[in-house]
Order: sequence, then structure tokens, then C-alpha cells
Amino acid sequence: MSAVRGPRADGVELPRDTAGFTRRECPSCMRAFKTRPGPHDARALLHKLQAFFTLENAHEGEEGLPVWRCPYCGHRAEADGFLTPAQQTHLESVARAWANHVRYEQLAHVSRTLSLNPRPTFVAVEPESMPGPMDPEPDELLRVIPMLCCGEDVKLLWEWDQLIFCPRCGARHGGLSGRQQIQLEVIQE
Ligand SMILES: [Zn+2]
Ligand SMILES: [Zn+2]
Repeated sequence: MSAVRGPRADGVELPRDTAGFTRRECPSCMRAFKTRPGPHDARALLHKLQAFFTLENAHEGEEGLPVWRCPYCGHRAEADGFLTPAQQTHLESVARAWANHVRYEQLAHVSRTLSLNPRPTFVAVEPESMPGPMDPEPDELLRVIPMLCCGEDVKLLWEWDQLIFCPRCGARHGGLSGRQQIQLEVIQE
């Protein structure tokens, strides 16, 4: 049996800052915010990887992929839509290296099993090693806002003083000028 080595799961984890937050970027307004990674993140990363590295079972990653909302502009998108350009570039390089490794293992397996063949028609060239983890996430000046609706913290731009949307549930929170208030509203699907 051939052992196909893929990237280890920790090779595609997104970096966290010292408080455990991971950077996100709204695909609409391009503003940055941070949330702590949850169980949905792995699915979002898998979904993105599959988009780069077309798998036959690519649809499997879409099940249960959460829809997040930009805390600033309220834009809604699937969780992998909030990957920053740097994170997407990293995932793309992981997917490419992964595909090269899989191809190499397949070719190497073929040449091993064809060892009796006196004239192999190809040589499997060992691919470059998998890309290392991304640079550590810096601790820049962001403001930690508790999302009382979901019991999670969100780090937002310091200067943002307008309405805030909870990234998870979409509940609207008042601006930072007054006391924090929650306007429970039905999320428009
Ligand atoms: Zn936005
Ligand atoms: Zn919420």
C-alpha cells in the first residue's frame, strides 16, 4: 500500500496573537478584525484548501460552513470569505505543496511497484518540503469588544465608533459611545 502524506493539520492553522485571536478581513469593506478561532475554522480552512486543490469530494467541506457577518459593514459571507489575502496566499501554497507531495507519492509508488521494469519511463522528483507556518500574528492596537449575544470577544479597530454586528449571529450592538446595547433583530437570510 502506498502511504500518501498530506500536510499535518497543524500546518494549516492560522496564527493567533498572544490573546488567542486570529485575524480576519471583510471581503466587502476590507476592514480588519479578530476573533478567536472555533471549531468552524477548520472547516472553513478545508473548504478553502479544496477550492485551491480540487478534490473529487470537494462538496463535503461545505456542509456546516458557517456564515459570518462583518462587524463593521454587516456584509455576510461564508467563513472562508473572511480569510485575509496573506492567509489565502499561505493556504494556496500549502495546497500546491500538498498536491505536489501527493503526486510524488503516487509516482514513487508506481516506480516502486514497477521495480521489475528494466526501463522505467520516468523518475519521481522529490518535491520541496511543505511550507512552514505563517508568521506569528502581531498584537497591534485593537479594541476588545465583548459580544454579549454569543459570549465571545471581538477585536475591532480602535477608531470604530459606529454600529457593530456580531460576526457570529449578526446581532446589532450600539456604538461604543454609549453603554453597550443589543438590538435583537431577526437575521435576514
Ligand atoms: Zn465589512
Ligand atoms: Zn452574537
